[in-house]
Amino acid sequence: VQKSGILEMIPLNESFKEIGGLDNLKSWVSNKAKVFKNMNKALEFGVDIPKGVLVVGMPGCGKSLNAKATAHLFGIPLLRLDMGRLLGKYVGESEANMRKAIKLAEAISPCVLWIDEIEKAFAGIGDGGNAEVATRLFGNFLTWMQEKNSATFVVATANDISKLPPELMRKGRFDEIFYVDLPSIEERKKIFEIHISKRRKNDLLSINISELSNNTDGYSGADIEGVVKESVENVFVSERDNLTTKDILDVIKNTSSLSELFKDQLK
Ligand code: ATP
Repeated sequence: VQKSGILEMIPLNESFKEIGGLDNLKSWVSNKAKVFKNMNKALEFGVDIPKGVLVVGMPGCGKSLNAKATAHLFGIPLLRLDMGRLLGKYVGESEANMRKAIKLAEAISPCVLWIDEIEKAFAGIGDGGNAEVATRLFGNFLTWMQEKNSATFVVATANDISKLPPELMRKGRFDEIFYVDLPSIEERKKIFEIHISKRRKNDLLSINISELSNNTDGYSGADIEGVVKESVENVFVSERDNLTTKDILDVIKNTSSLSELFKDQLK
């Protein structure tokens, strides 16, 4: 699978414990995992086979992390479909690649099929270029999603909802659509705790998490991870023993002044 180029097997190192916030998504996925793990019983009871979920939203807010944690929770392999590689140069190649990828995923099922940046594959629809290929690909994908009854749970992720064809959002394709936003003040606290305890567990108790959260309005989970990483490195380089609130606030001050700079240019 790893060598096929279109599908990549992703190692399952992350669990839901590593995701701060996204509580609705996490509890929805947990319910689906319960169904998936007891599929025969669930079918007998009248429950449908879970098809999949579409997660749309801000970059760096945990969409990829959720795909990995979902497969971890389901206890099944995670296959990432590389949309960039799927699109071929020759007539019919993209559709053939899509069929191959789906066939492979179904042969490996039960598995989670993660379609990252799904908007990219269908970007040509309606605006020339690869429009014809994109429309056919999209049609094939929708038909498969609608008719599929294999234990292939699809997690599709997208950054830009405006680029998604409306048909994708219609009922019957995905079981649910979630919008992921920048973390709230409470969510930021949890994200700081996760990333500090990953690196400096013993320092966590003496750190003022609320103060960090209060000073990071507008930061994504990935931004917070970056701040923690840099703070830990600074402490190491200056040959001190412990990470403190001040170390992290110093990095926050620098990053926010940088984003202020860009804000003016972006206006
Ligand atoms: P992109 O669309 O840019 O791929 P994404 O939404 O998929 O972004 P992730 O790849 O999941 O974002 O996040 C990048 C990293 O940021 C994660 O590996 C994780 O370390 C950190 N991160 C993001 N969101 C969270 C969160 N909610 N809780 C904990 N860590 C987070």
